[in-house]
Amino acid sequence: MARSRSGTRGRRGPRKPPRRTGASVAGGVATVDASERGAIELPATITVKELAELLVVSPADIIRELIKSGIFATINQLIDRDTASLVAEELGFAVAEPQDASASEDEEGEGVPAEAAKEQLWDESGEDEKDLVPRAPIVTVMGHVDHGKTSLLDAIRSTTVAAGERGGITQHIGASEITTKDGKRVVFLDTPGHEAFTAMRARGARVTDIAVIVVAADDGVMPQTLEAISHAKAAKVPLVIAMNKIDKPDANPDRVKTELAEAGVVVEDYGGDTPLVPVSAKTRVGLEELLEIILLVADLLELKANPKREAVGTVIEARLDKGRGPVATLIVQTGTLRVGDAVVAGNTFGKIKALENSAGKRIPKAGPASAAVVLGLSDVPEAGDILRVVPDVMIARAQVEQRKNAAAAQAGAGSGRATLEDLYRQIQAGQAKELRIILKADVSGSLGAIDHALAQLSSEETKINVLLEAAGEITDNDIMLATASNAIVVGFNTGITETARRAAEAEGVDIRRYDIIYKLTDDIDAALKGMLEPEIVEVVEGRAEVRQLFKVGKTAVIAGCYVTDGRIVRSGSARVWRGGKVIVTDKIEGLRRFKDDVREVAQNFECGISLAGFNDLAEGDVIECFTQQARSRAGL
Ligand code: GDP
Repeated sequence: MARSRSGTRGRRGPRKPPRRTGASVAGGVATVDASERGAIELPATITVKELAELLVVSPADIIRELIKSGIFATINQLIDRDTASLVAEELGFAVAEPQDASASEDEEGEGVPAEAAKEQLWDESGEDEKDLVPRAPIVTVMGHVDHGKTSLLDAIRSTTVAAGERGGITQHIGASEITTKDGKRVVFLDTPGHEAFTAMRARGARVTDIAVIVVAADDGVMPQTLEAISHAKAAKVPLVIAMNKIDKPDANPDRVKTELAEAGVVVEDYGGDTPLVPVSAKTRVGLEELLEIILLVADLLELKANPKREAVGTVIEARLDKGRGPVATLIVQTGTLRVGDAVVAGNTFGKIKALENSAGKRIPKAGPASAAVVLGLSDVPEAGDILRVVPDVMIARAQVEQRKNAAAAQAGAGSGRATLEDLYRQIQAGQAKELRIILKADVSGSLGAIDHALAQLSSEETKINVLLEAAGEITDNDIMLATASNAIVVGFNTGITETARRAAEAEGVDIRRYDIIYKLTDDIDAALKGMLEPEIVEVVEGRAEVRQLFKVGKTAVIAGCYVTDGRIVRSGSARVWRGGKVIVTDKIEGLRRFKDDVREVAQNFECGISLAGFNDLAEGDVIECFTQQARSRAGL
């Protein structure tokens, strides 16, 4: 059964007939009489910014008009003439007719994230519609540091706990459930921030229904606000803006709204469809309205679950408790979890010994969209692990064994992630319809130029979808978003943090770094056409120190070595270092452990190495073994 998630985003209302003269636009654009200006000529494609300049309106006005047509555009995004002329006409301008001037009505959903295609972790197809009941929304709070995420969560919790007379303080379990005055439940994930959100997504978890983006009214949209918006949009999760700190004297709501519009998020009173609620975590103003709006958005999402089926949930937090063993907090997403159920969660399994709610009370069962602490797992699962109920513990144990074996077999068998090299094959196989890109550049000025260049490469068959663009280094967050969204990371004139590099390697994320725009676009163009040559890169496998030399025959030498780091592989090449300099580069010809020929020797083992042509090794030389590999992670 397909869930209807249409609602706050991606809607496209009936198009109004274009107004050609005298239009005035809500949000402050001056009335324009087209006849005074004459008809505007538009190029085949134009960026939002350029169009704004051409029409002498603010980019936010353009973005707002686009959103009315269901197009979520950024300021640097390229739009086609048809779209641009509709926007211009909506803003009251007359547009000169191009040769083929029929305003197309066919780009339904163009540029819009596909309608909330939340990956299903369970199959509802066999379920009876009548078993499905509405469930509470699960909400994540994100935003820039110090904008008040934690304060807001605390304020909401304390208000509603007091109102609900639950008695007692909510313990920290990673998620909290609140009940509004009219008895409606909302579940909040307690670890605010898009990092945690996307880390979970990267592990396959789909927990959040609604993202609350906290923006401080005195500070406005900041880099992490933009990141949070991109992360939520990449996950196709609807947004609610909590404009916090409105108690502050320097709060500037209009600035926040304009900056949001520039980031492609147009709030309702600017003509868009993203709700914004002014709040203060400090004075508690607006908290009830915020909850109301969250529930309203939840209604539109028609969140439902079947409490009668076996439970499926996601681990939010887990730890080892000295007295109680592994303790995990879970969001039950569908079904009902009961004490005594046999479960599998990631690489752990067990029989549920006890369940507790967020107030620390023992409960016999936990239904859909509830947070519960579970006891009884064999081991500590990881955040993001999916928990499923299985018929009995024997089966649970067997499933975990099977899973571990499969994981071991998979290791090294390729990650299946998006890479530029593989793109064409994926397109041909119908597995990919768009190339998702996370774009980082040295300065924001470069982003526009790259966006513009990339937009030219989008075609009917393959769209280029820039999930996030920002100035700065490539960071862990970018890698996480790439992992979660199957995107590649493109860096222009920018570095990468060491932890991000390692994360990318571990996750198999394709990172491309360029310093010339046409090289970037050439590569992507070639990849789209299936003509990208794999890049050959050198990989240093390890080093061995020569400890002793053995003559074999007249000239040949076997060097008795000790592998100091990494590994030595027989198929590799060798660079011989002496006194801080490379004295020769050669092929490795022979590699032995004792009397046996071996393919590789690992760190801290001794081995015998002979090189193909070089026989003048000396004690103390360091043999650096390297291999050539076709790799997608250019520039790492
Ligand atoms: P986080 O980093 O987003 O979790 O932000 P915090 O919740 O830690 O808040 C950062 C700072 O802003 C703290 O000093 C809070 O006391 C303050 N703060 C949070 N919300 C409000 C608010 O609504 N009004 C005012 N005046 N200060 C606030």
